[in-house]
Amino acid sequence: MTITTIIEPFKIKAVEPLRMTTRPERQGILAQAGYNLFGVRAEHVLIDLLTDSGTSAMSAAQWAGILDGDESYAGARSFYRFERVVKELTGFKHIIPTHQGRAAEKILFAIVGGAGKLIPSNSHFDTTRANIEVSGAEAVDLPVKEALTPSLVQDFKGNMNITGLERLLKQKGREQVPLVMMTVTNNSCAGQPVSMGCIRRVSELCRSYRIPFFIDACRFAENAWFIKTREPGCKGRSVKQLAQEMFSYADGCTMSGKKDGLVNIGGFLAVNDDDLAQQARNILIVTEGFPTYGGLAGRDLEAFAQGLEEVLDEDYLRYRIRSVAYVVDKLDAMGVPVFKPAGGHAVYLDAAAFLPHIPPRHLPGQALACALYLEGGIRACEIGSVMFGRTDPAGGQFQPAPMELVRLAIPRRVYTQSHMDYVVECIGELFSRRDGIRGMRIVAEPPLLRHFTAVFEPL
Ligand SMILES: *Cc1c(COP(=O)(O)O)cnc(C)c1O
Repeated sequence: MTITTIIEPFKIKAVEPLRMTTRPERQGILAQAGYNLFGVRAEHVLIDLLTDSGTSAMSAAQWAGILDGDESYAGARSFYRFERVVKELTGFKHIIPTHQGRAAEKILFAIVGGAGKLIPSNSHFDTTRANIEVSGAEAVDLPVKEALTPSLVQDFKGNMNITGLERLLKQKGREQVPLVMMTVTNNSCAGQPVSMGCIRRVSELCRSYRIPFFIDACRFAENAWFIKTREPGCKGRSVKQLAQEMFSYADGCTMSGKKDGLVNIGGFLAVNDDDLAQQARNILIVTEGFPTYGGLAGRDLEAFAQGLEEVLDEDYLRYRIRSVAYVVDKLDAMGVPVFKPAGGHAVYLDAAAFLPHIPPRHLPGQALACALYLEGGIRACEIGSVMFGRTDPAGGQFQPAPMELVRLAIPRRVYTQSHMDYVVECIGELFSRRDGIRGMRIVAEPPLLRHFTAVFEPL
């Protein structure tokens, strides 16, 4: 007999109590927050699946590193450990620490962006897009078309549309395209992975146009695990070797340590080009800090270096990816519409199919996210027409997002299987009473990134 149960490959050393609220309490909390879950205090949330960013539980070795961090202003031992770990993983020549991923993006696009430039990607993450646009350049998403069908099961729905990229490069050339980006896994596309074959072909295409190719590496380890388990010929290789191969095709990367760095804060920019590194360090000194600490304390660099080693542990990755698929499989078996196959860091409910009686302009994703909080104190995030839709202020025309999703992001090493069973049960309960869920409308919204602060009202 073979044992098939995949367990959490760790035991718990420090615990943080969770507080239950009652349904009437949650009703009041929701109303007070303007039905916007970003406005709810974390202490009023039972299971917080708002994001997987910066919410990881650190290991005992990382906490030991926190005490052991070298806080010297220049040349700290913790920096050199961090630099050694990142160089070994990525092979890049210059390692530039930043306080988080968006700071690395800000520096990179301040140098290569600017008016008239285009930056293509499989899909840009929202901070990447914002930093490109702030520089005056245009962010272009080129996902494969399969990415837009939630029910379609395919191995690498995070891939880039290479034909589309080739057409763009032929039209615009290196004069207008200073850099091509690839996000692994593809966060804006349900955490779906990118294949090694796709990374290699995009890299070759970029080389033929002499355009630098960068990886947005936030979830490099989760992506490498998918490559190992899904791509022909990769099973026998270690995740670390596969990650190293992914990076070998690129000229640099941006990274948020708050994801696969297994830390609560941290990021870096890594590049091969000496000139680019020099310019980046000049900006770094003005906005982040001296090049051997960036925007971080020595202890953060120590924990980050340790996290980058731990995240490549294959027992961890097997559990990590399985823990997301476990929830997707259970929901799918109950007939709940979910994005398939399971991605790396989150479960995505297809709110449009879950609530077919609520049209996109009545914000089914927001309605579902609020209902889930009310039902079980679970906090998720709408990724639909609130986040990506537009309401033309002049004509009042509503433009929906391509998909109405609700993301349940799974923090790393934080929740156990019984927490997830509870989440599944709550969603199942809601699904059986879905006809009673009503749509929502926006009462007030800011001009930019409205999902963070908009005020809603049930219809
Ligand atoms: C989180 C994230 C970023 C930005 O990183 P921060 O540390 O939050 O600034 C960039 N790209 C992707 C794909 C991300 O998931």
